Amino acid sequence: MSQYCVEINTDKCIGCGLCSKVCVAHNLVIDQNKAKKVIDDCVMCGQCSAVCPQKAISLKGYGSGQVEKAEEVRLSPEDILNVIRFRRSIRNLKKQKSQERSLRKF
Ligand code: SF4
Ligand code: SF4
Repeated sequence: MSQYCVEINTDKCIGCGLCSKVCVAHNLVIDQNKAKKVIDDCVMCGQCSAVCPQKAISLKGYGSGQVEKAEEVRLSPEDILNVIRFRRSIRNLKKQKSQERSLRKF
């Protein structure tokens, strides 16, 4: 098994399927009302952990479970890593135009 892997606590899992829905690697399935990995290796994006309402998914090897943004952070290397990890989805984009105001900010 790799040093880094997704771990699912099946005692906490309620089989809602959110993790499976957001997984870009199609690496999570719902089997008998519980989330299950297809293979151990994936892109380790952490999206499944971020969306899980039960905090049932953690990424082993990264030092902690689900990471949530609790306060404003400075851009130290360690903080940048956390920003990446507690981000929410950019993967399920809506089919609608972005607002001009938002585009200008970028
Ligand atoms: S999002 Fe969490 S509770 Fe829902 S199926 Fe996945 S692991 Fe289970
Ligand atoms: S870490 Fe990313 S690629 Fe891996 S199972 Fe979770 S959502 Fe899928």
